[in-house]
Amino acid sequence: MTKETGWNLDNSYTRLPKKFFSTINPNPVRSPNLVVLNEPVARSLGLKAEELQKEENLAVLAGNETPEGSIPIAQAYAGHQFGYFNMLGDGRALMVGEQITPQNERYDIQLKGSGRTPYSRGGDGRAALGPMLREYIISEAMHGLGIPTTRSLAVVTTGESIVRETELPGAVMTRVASSHLRVGTFEFAAKWGTGEELKELADYAIERHYPEIIKDQGRYLSLLKKVIERQAYLIAKWQLVGFIHGVMNTDNMTVSGETIDYGPCAFMDSYDPETVFSSIDREGRYAYGNQPRIAGWNLARFAETLLPLLHENQEKAVEIAQEVLYGFSELYNANYFRGMRAKLGLFNEEKEDQSLVEELLEMMKNHKADYTNTFRALTLDMRDCSSLFGAEEFTQWKEKWQERRRRQQESKESSDELMRNSNPGIIPRNHRVEEALKAAENGDLSVMERLVDVLSNPYVHSPEQEEYTTLPPDSEGPYRTFCGT
Ligand code: AMP
Ligand code: MG
Ligand code: MG
Repeated sequence: MTKETGWNLDNSYTRLPKKFFSTINPNPVRSPNLVVLNEPVARSLGLKAEELQKEENLAVLAGNETPEGSIPIAQAYAGHQFGYFNMLGDGRALMVGEQITPQNERYDIQLKGSGRTPYSRGGDGRAALGPMLREYIISEAMHGLGIPTTRSLAVVTTGESIVRETELPGAVMTRVASSHLRVGTFEFAAKWGTGEELKELADYAIERHYPEIIKDQGRYLSLLKKVIERQAYLIAKWQLVGFIHGVMNTDNMTVSGETIDYGPCAFMDSYDPETVFSSIDREGRYAYGNQPRIAGWNLARFAETLLPLLHENQEKAVEIAQEVLYGFSELYNANYFRGMRAKLGLFNEEKEDQSLVEELLEMMKNHKADYTNTFRALTLDMRDCSSLFGAEEFTQWKEKWQERRRRQQESKESSDELMRNSNPGIIPRNHRVEEALKAAENGDLSVMERLVDVLSNPYVHSPEQEEYTTLPPDSEGPYRTFCGT
């Protein structure tokens, strides 16, 4: 079975000290049924889509069987949730192993919703179909947008219902990640591991994600710098497309710099830094405009875990860590404004660019203009439906912007092209995602398939995108997201 399917698993994580994981037995489900299979992801992993769909192989994607070479485990981790430290761990996930691809790359294969583990606490270890499909859709959209992310290989229903506020169909999603090492994994090691164990984890992370620094003199400082760089890049990407993660706890921040955990995330419609969708984020800790600052806060927690490895004198270690942490906001800003200039078709940098961007955003906020559609309208040189485009101050701003564009060497055509490649014509709008999920739950997958298909090419600006640019009716009221379902 394994040979035809293409599973080629290693389990390097299980060679870390035992306290970093628990080996677990699969929790079989009643009757696995394939809902969606990501063929491009299967292919890139060296897996055969047609084989994976067969009943005997589907058992693997439901956690009923483990493929040859798998050592099923749940990973231990800790994390700051809304600022408070907790012991966590995979409470509803099973790591199947690490797939070594034909290109010799290594990807974690993890089942989410696969049943209870030693870290489940009060939870049932299960997941509902809706949220698993939601993660599938949004992570594919992020990939299409060119944003580093974990992806989904498949979603299967279990044939069992799970109890939340109502009874919901149960599902298991197969998540593919360059690793599941989190800031919280390091917090776990720093709190409960020995110095030697912490070092093993850090060396493991370096080997897996940053092999170029293995030989560095102070390689743990290099690790900190690399993670800061990747996160500064990632968070800027989020901000540029209006993505709100919703639960930026330290256990939901990867060391690889991939977006992970799509629980309560959503894309912003009208521009407002205070936008929050998550029903549990009552104080707006994870609001759109706070994301860069929170990332900095999380990275400070990461740096703290590395202190024993940075210098034998802990005061000195703090100084060293602080120095690189200060660099985060500068790196973030550089990425963000580079991206914003591209969104405005600007290749070079001028001193006034920052205020040009900020003036536009301020107007968008005052006119409650849709973030994505405003940049799309500028890109395609169309009138936007919001009041923004009729405002006198906007006309003045537009003059200034056009003049600024003319001041650069590059042609108008290449500036237009830069804008088309930097401003998505489509994002996974909340009401369209909901519509796709509802249809899927009623057995019609075509709505979701079409949505995922269009989302995979956000920068083509094709007529197909048009219908996805419309906003939800005002009558729908504010959108709310939930985690943990
Ligand atoms: P999250 O907020 O999604 O990052 O999850 C935080 C923690 O809760 C993680 O340790 C999850 O594994 C755990 N968790 C979430 N939902 C469940 C569930 N239904 N059963 C057991 N553990 C869960
Ligand atoms: Mg999580
Ligand atoms: Mg979650």
